[in-house]
Amino acid sequence: MTRSRSPSPSGHHRLPVHEVVLLLGSDRHRGLGTREAADRLGRFGPNTLPSAARTGPFRRALRQFHHPLIYVLLVAGVITVALGQHVDSLVIFGVVVINALVGFVQESRAEAALEGLRSMVRTDARVIRDGHERTVPSADLVPGDLVLLEAGDKVPADLRLTRTAELRVNESALTGESSPVAKDEVVLHDDVPVADRGNMAYSGTLVTTGGGAGIVVATGTQTELGAIHRLVGAAEDLRTPLTAKLAGFSRILTVGILALAAVTFGVGLLRDQDAVETFVAAIALAVAAIPEGLPAAVTITLAIGVSRMARRRAVIRRLPAVETLGGTTVICSDKTGTLTENRMTVRALWTPGGVYEVTGSGSAPEGTVRDTAGAPVPVESDEALRWSLLAGAACTDATLGEHDGRWETTGDPTEGAMLVAAAKAGLGPRRVAGSLPRVATIPFSSERRYMATRHRDTSGEPSGHVVLVKGALERVLELCDAQLDRDGTVRPLDTSAVRRAADDRAGRGMRVLATAARWESGPGDTEVRAADAAGEDTLGTEIVPGSLVLTGFQAMLDPPRAAAIDAVAACHTADITVKMITGDHAATATAIADRIGLFDGHPHTDRAVLTGSDLDAVPAEEFPDAVQRAGVFARVSPEQKLRLVEAMQTRGHVVAMTGDGVNDAPALRQADIGIAMGQTGTEVAKDAADMVLTDDDFATIEAAVEEGRGVFDNLTKFIAWTLPTNVGQGLVILSAIAVGAVLPILPTQILWINMTTAVALGLMLAFEPKETGIMTRPPRDPGRSLLTRALVVRTLLVGALLVAGSWWLFRWELTQGGASLPEARTAALNVFVVVSAFYLFSCRSLVRPAWRVGPLSNRWILVGVTAQALAQLALTYLPALNAVFDTAPLGVDVWLRILAIAVITTLVVAVHKRVSAVPPR
Ligand code: ADP
Ligand code: MG
Repeated sequence: MTRSRSPSPSGHHRLPVHEVVLLLGSDRHRGLGTREAADRLGRFGPNTLPSAARTGPFRRALRQFHHPLIYVLLVAGVITVALGQHVDSLVIFGVVVINALVGFVQESRAEAALEGLRSMVRTDARVIRDGHERTVPSADLVPGDLVLLEAGDKVPADLRLTRTAELRVNESALTGESSPVAKDEVVLHDDVPVADRGNMAYSGTLVTTGGGAGIVVATGTQTELGAIHRLVGAAEDLRTPLTAKLAGFSRILTVGILALAAVTFGVGLLRDQDAVETFVAAIALAVAAIPEGLPAAVTITLAIGVSRMARRRAVIRRLPAVETLGGTTVICSDKTGTLTENRMTVRALWTPGGVYEVTGSGSAPEGTVRDTAGAPVPVESDEALRWSLLAGAACTDATLGEHDGRWETTGDPTEGAMLVAAAKAGLGPRRVAGSLPRVATIPFSSERRYMATRHRDTSGEPSGHVVLVKGALERVLELCDAQLDRDGTVRPLDTSAVRRAADDRAGRGMRVLATAARWESGPGDTEVRAADAAGEDTLGTEIVPGSLVLTGFQAMLDPPRAAAIDAVAACHTADITVKMITGDHAATATAIADRIGLFDGHPHTDRAVLTGSDLDAVPAEEFPDAVQRAGVFARVSPEQKLRLVEAMQTRGHVVAMTGDGVNDAPALRQADIGIAMGQTGTEVAKDAADMVLTDDDFATIEAAVEEGRGVFDNLTKFIAWTLPTNVGQGLVILSAIAVGAVLPILPTQILWINMTTAVALGLMLAFEPKETGIMTRPPRDPGRSLLTRALVVRTLLVGALLVAGSWWLFRWELTQGGASLPEARTAALNVFVVVSAFYLFSCRSLVRPAWRVGPLSNRWILVGVTAQALAQLALTYLPALNAVFDTAPLGVDVWLRILAIAVITTLVVAVHKRVSAVPPR
């Protein structure tokens, strides 16, 4: 299979649309045929970019040697070779190689974990094929495809635009220019640079407003984005604020310890100790005391967290989110679709002349419109009812159809529900589309809160035009100055009657959408007709207030998600505030909030509900407090969402915020954790988010927070293990040189301990499962550093115990035990390893003692401990290793003494835990 290039990939902006269409063998209206598309997919390959050209394994391996400690070790290795200290140089180079190997493996694992995520968030594109609109995976696009664009889309391939309506595209991904640029389909005559090609839309750029259509001229690596991609080979950055901080911390530590080692070397020389021996000891001191594995261990812990979250349907887009998530103090969630199921059903209809119920559930148009007495009502009996249902059926972008015997709606569930309601009354979508062909649209947006369409009304004689509107009640009322009666007469608007009826439904948790219409004169209106003939939008961008006739409202029910109720309760137990932010009506929002328990047992939230206009009325200095008090924000605009996030952040909150629309992007970026909806969210929102929920469910946010806490715990556990053991190793050497005594553990032996325990023991804490009760404690204080007082005390305590234990046994074996020097050293060395292993179990829980943690819940710990035990047995009993490391076999009684020391340390740590735990709070 050879992959052809699309013809002249860069000249399309200079050709008129029909030539481009011709050139690409497509059709401006019908698009490609399905067969042809499949055929081209084989020829051109999928419309994807190869996963970011990662740094090659060789370079990555080389990078592992880029560390001050390694430089010191390499110098030391060379010096020992020169001095003929072959065993020492062997061990030193061994350390260097193992260290690099571990770093390499960890980094690869972390990258692989992130790599796997990219495929989890699939993007779709809307295309016309065979004259029908359909949704296909973006990867399946081929040159010649006719693609439809609307606000919120990510442009899926390079397109020559064929049709545009107010289309604006943010091209910052390509040009760095962040303000959106206007697009049209006009031919350009000069060969202008990419940034100025106003009739092209490029892959990876974001549609901010308007819509349009375009012919695919390039896919995959042939796109402009592909070209940049090849240049940069963008590698996933594994750094986060935390790893950066820790890297800084270990750099300072490294320098400090190296200085200490230098001083130790000087002291040793002054004391007339053997220069070579002291030098090697100083090096060992440095290697032992520096927690060189720390940054790598943090990265792998985060990466494991990422895959755990992915398993729970939360896809992390930016690694820092993993560490932030655990500290979340406030979750601001959308209502519709996140806290509720987004399965809307119209239950009630209201018109100025009647009140009706709708029976039946689901998407099937099976059910009837009845009056309050239960008698079926034909739509002809109430003109307002008919036009209200028609607004729902015609002023819509949703579809209703039967596939394989099952009725399904596509598009916005709110619109779907209205389509179904109309169909139940006999106004099926096909019939309506035939009698009311649409000529113009004002699309729905969260700011505008209504949608309007203009139709040719073919039913009347002579045929005229009708404008149909549906939207939020207050908005639609502003646009109306009259209402329609049962018999079709237009009367003055009685606002209070509508309001009363709507408030009643909203108070029961129903979403209320008002409908309105305007009948325009037919043939007389020449201006309108001329515009129609040209196929132009004649609605403008807004409806003139007071120009419509109210036809009624439809009230629909959207059940709360069962899982969300539990998740909200779990958040409350975990002292996380949940706030609802919605564009819906205050009464509807409050009723739903009540049902999911948002107000239950929460100390910080009273029942306060603030609407968008309330928010505007709050003076700036009171704003943050008002925001903190309220639990529900209704009729909020995306721009207010941003203010809400900022206000909560000034009060020290770590804010997680959901969003799905184009205009939510700024709030998502501002939030500590921006969360986009995987199913209903726009590409723009996903692009701005740190995390994407593949199931749109609030419960998934709670799950992710839980995992985030687990990740942070495991980091704390690892640090709590690694610092004391490193400090202990350094102190053993330091103390010996300082007092001028015989080394209880030789430098080569320290290097052995350092390398084997860090890999076989410490690292396994990254796999620790979450502790029970992780969601019953308050969030960690975001300002608190990782190095808490308790942790410092613990480090000194365990470090001291390690040093004391090994010194004591070393001396005891030499004096009481009658052991040889190698035997005594082997005993001391094993004290270190065994105590470290026991201490590992103490570190598995932040609060509970070692013996209260299920021994089988982390099998990696068992694997690691077994490996370490085998390594120690080999070191102690294998003659070959005895020769290299100056060790000697030990008797059973010595092991018993070692175990006794380990048990004692464990008890001491347990007591310390009782008095001051090392929680990450
Ligand atoms: P939410 O936070 O509930 O998703 P939206 O911003 O989507 O809020 O909707 C705000 C209001 O706009 C709704 O309460 C409803 O009255 C109205 N609305 C929602 N969807 C549509 C639509 N497709 N067409 C017209 N009006 C709509
Ligand atoms: Mg919505």
